[in-house]
Amino acid sequence: TATATEEVITPPVQVEHTQLLINGQFVDAASGRTFPTLDPRTGEVIAHVAEGEDEDINRAVSAARKAFDEGPWPKMTAYERSRIIYRFADLLEKHNDEIAAIETWDNGKPYEQSAKVEIPMLTRLFRYYAGWADKIHGLTVPADGPYHVQTLHEPIGVAGQIIPWNFPLLMYAWKVGPALACGNAVVLKTAEQTPLSALYVSKLFHEAGLPPGVLNVISGFGPTAGAALASHMDVEKVAFTGSTDTGKIVLELAARSNLKKVTLELGGKSPFIVCEDADIDKAVELAHFALFFNQGQCCCAGSRTFVHENVYDEFIEKAKARAMKRVVGDPFKKGVEQGPQIDAEQLEKVLKYIRAGIECGATLETGGERFGTKGYFIQPTVFSNVEDGMPIATDEIFGPVQSILKFKDLDDVIRRANKSRYGLAAGVFTKNIETANTLMRALRVGTVWINCFDVFDAAIPFGGYKMSGQGREKGIYSLSNYLQVKAVVSPLKNP
Ligand code: ADP
Repeated sequence: TATATEEVITPPVQVEHTQLLINGQFVDAASGRTFPTLDPRTGEVIAHVAEGEDEDINRAVSAARKAFDEGPWPKMTAYERSRIIYRFADLLEKHNDEIAAIETWDNGKPYEQSAKVEIPMLTRLFRYYAGWADKIHGLTVPADGPYHVQTLHEPIGVAGQIIPWNFPLLMYAWKVGPALACGNAVVLKTAEQTPLSALYVSKLFHEAGLPPGVLNVISGFGPTAGAALASHMDVEKVAFTGSTDTGKIVLELAARSNLKKVTLELGGKSPFIVCEDADIDKAVELAHFALFFNQGQCCCAGSRTFVHENVYDEFIEKAKARAMKRVVGDPFKKGVEQGPQIDAEQLEKVLKYIRAGIECGATLETGGERFGTKGYFIQPTVFSNVEDGMPIATDEIFGPVQSILKFKDLDDVIRRANKSRYGLAAGVFTKNIETANTLMRALRVGTVWINCFDVFDAAIPFGGYKMSGQGREKGIYSLSNYLQVKAVVSPLKNP
């Protein structure tokens, strides 16, 4: 594993916001309790954050209810809402580097990735949704009979949103953006590992003119704050991103309480298919990126690298060499490609999968151990001779572990790629348009990236087939998650 040299930035010396954001005010938790959020580089405490629970969720939901039922938000013109979201995006752009530093400090992802890719993308997403706010409208419907029929596309009401720690602010944008553009009020629960950045940017949202109560942010744990939100009787919609097991709980809580509408973006085990005709150097680089990006902590990570048997040996040698060159280290240093995993639990989980891979007889080509002795770093790890049934080929590892499998022909790889409970994404690497077309149609997944990977434009819908989720986020498709349709019928002549 390569090491980094130069320092680019030091983390901000203090954290400004650690309380809950309810009704436009930063407040302590009702219980007065706090929990520590840790720096994954060292395991040291960055800050103690207010711990929201039932009563705080109740307070936040009441504020959101009031903002929706009585308050200005859904009653503003769509243009006024759009202007506020645009102003927020301008503030995000202005504070790009501070926001990036907070994101990296709390999450451990490379600062250069935060500052140059993710925070600019956050800004872009909010501009995209600001653009939608005043372009949402219904239809005039040609019904039989002497009636005038129209549809109104109305906001659902109060949306509960539960997000994970791997892309704290991008997940914030995917959820808060469409919900607010459509005129809903929101109670967002951040992941307990990464509460800081959402509080910081939500303060900016209020500076941009967002009325109090429209967006409430609660830090806290899943089984308490998260479950309270998913089961709340006054919340009409819940959007969740996280593991498939937790997604099932959220769906169940929604069903048992008030049948709130649910969207889920869950786990994956995405195939990345390297065809016989591929340029191997380029395929190695893209397959490496598809898996190792964000410390392997991506729901859509290309975590089953299928390689055609005729190019398999060459691919393994080069994939191993590339992983050995990967620069692991302090994410605030220049040139670092891989920071620490999010926490001790994830570190242990990934190391457990690596041990399982070795025990099942896969060949450990490189890596396989913790990197250093401080923080939650893992060596970039590559396995070859992986078989379909091994846990490293079936389960979501969520770490820097590349599992490489050999395939014979297209029929073989299609059958095996689709033999998964997940269906989030797939990568295809080929120069042959017929091969690309065949795979693009045959793969049962929500996104197919052909000769590219992890292209996350604001306009491109994202979501899963099978147990990878329900519904689509981003793009025009995400609006329907936050709108309901009212049919209005009136006779042409008074009766
Ligand atoms: P991970 O295993 O990656 O932490 P989770 O699916 O457990 O993924 O977490 C994603 C989000 O779901 C986090 O905000 C977490 O607090 C929340 N969460 C966890 N358990 C529950 C639950 N029982 N009900 C509601 N939300 C939960």
